[in-house]
Order: sequence, then C-alpha cells, then structure tokens
Amino acid sequence: MIFGGIEAGGTKWVCAIGSMPDDVRETLVFPTGRPDETIARAAGFFSAAHGGIAALGVGSFGPIDLHRTSPTWGRITTTPKPGWADTDLFARLSATLDVPLAFDTDVNAAALGEHRWGAAVDLETFCYVTVGTGIGGGGMANGRLMHGLLHPELGHMRIPHDRAVDPFDGVCPYHGDCFEGLASGEAIRKRWNLSPGEPLHEEALQLEADYLALGLVNLVAVLSPQRIIVGGGVMNEPSLLELVRTRLRALASGYFDTPLLTDHVDDYVVRPALGDRAGVLGALELARLALDGGSAD
Ligand code: ZN
Repeated sequence: MIFGGIEAGGTKWVCAIGSMPDDVRETLVFPTGRPDETIARAAGFFSAAHGGIAALGVGSFGPIDLHRTSPTWGRITTTPKPGWADTDLFARLSATLDVPLAFDTDVNAAALGEHRWGAAVDLETFCYVTVGTGIGGGGMANGRLMHGLLHPELGHMRIPHDRAVDPFDGVCPYHGDCFEGLASGEAIRKRWNLSPGEPLHEEALQLEADYLALGLVNLVAVLSPQRIIVGGGVMNEPSLLELVRTRLRALASGYFDTPLLTDHVDDYVVRPALGDRAGVLGALELARLALDGGSAD
C-alpha cells in the first residue's frame, strides 16, 4: 500500500509518496508560497502518482484545528504567516484528491515518525521539539499523540528572562520573550546580528544552551517525558546539544531522581533518528493510520 505524506512547513513543503523510510518512491520539496499555488502544487504531485495513493497524511505548521468533530477541522487558524490564516487545507486538498486525509501538527507528525521508526520506538510518553526559525513541539502521552484544548504550543511557554544578562526583547509577535521569542533561530539571528547560517560565537552558544535547557526542564516537570528528541536547524550547531544536556542535568539535579537525568542524559536528550525526514515520514504514517481507521490521537 502506497501513501502520500506532506510536511507542510511555513518555509517549505516536503511531499513524499511511499510507505516507510526504506520505501520512499518520490519526493517533492518546494518553498511555501501563497496558499492556492502551494496546495495546488502538492495536490498535482499526488494526483500524478503512479498507481495513486491510498491515503494522505499532512503534518502542518499551525495553529491548526485538529478536533475531528469541528466544522473547521483541518484548517490553519491564527498563523502570523501572511496569507495563511484561516486556510482550509482539508477542503482544498479533498477537492482534488479523493482519498482519506489525516492532519496533525508538523511536530506531532515528526513525533509519530520517530515513534514508528526512530528514537521513540516503544516509548509511551515523549516529546519532540524542533528548534529552527521558530520553536515547536509535540509528542505522545500514554501512547497517543498529544492533543487537548488545542494542541501543544511548546514554543510559546514562558521561561525566565534575566534582562540584566540578556536585554534582548525577543521576537515572538504575540509574547515577545516566550521560549521561541528568546531561543529560536530568528531570535539568535536578531539578538547577535548574525547572517543565516553564520556559526554561533561562544557567548551566543552559552545563552542558547541556557534557554533551551530551561525549556526542556519545564517539559520534564510538566509532562514527565521518557525521552526528549530535539530537531531543527539550530541544533546542527556543533557542541550545542552537549551544552544543553549539561545544563539540563544541572537544572534537574537534586530533585528529578532518575539515572536518565544524571548519568545518562545523552540517552535522554537526543537528535531525531530519522533526521530531517521525521516529519514527512510521520505524515506517511498518519496516512496509514487514517486508512486503517485507527488513529494515533
Ligand atoms: Zn510566543
């Protein structure tokens, strides 16, 4: 059985046709443009698939309405991305593709991919956090993808901000100095006036590790994840992951009494085993679950 998957990001869309990591038959990657042209391009790709696809899974940037009983299910809601607020992804894709559709957040899709094939196999409760241009996060609780009132927005949690150390106001258009506002790639770039892709200097690295560890220790306190998977382009910075682990261990010490947070923190905070394919592979798995009538939510 062949499925379609879309990792619908705010910067680019990654589309794949296949069934698993070793069976991805075609991919298409293109920059996110206006909603109509972007959705039409993806729909055209899947329509042309040899033999067709049995179902389509979409892991989307958001916020997105994920309540299946809601009249606006599958719709991107309040995104600040120009032109995309109130975009009805479900209606637009289903108008072209007559197959079962499944939606979740891009980070929950990545979490699902890691659960099926990657760094979270057999775990029941874990988080997937991506630190890129923005910060997003999702995961599973007790074996089900995390949904609820809306869906997790880990990037917008509030973390301590010592303005004596870091007078930067933050970049979140809604909150200023939330987690994403202080620790996203965009925040780093603006705070230190760096060009995209420019390596971080020592001061930037240390501050970034401080903020990321604060965010992660909050996840430990609130969700008790068995592992935290950290993806995203910022984490490609050499030595950053190790700095984050060291700081998380220090923040957790003396209270969270588990070997994973003392002696084995390198097994606790890990990179995605599927690399940057976690999202689109998870979208394929969303499609399979939609067809099976099952659901990871
Ligand atoms: Zn925010």
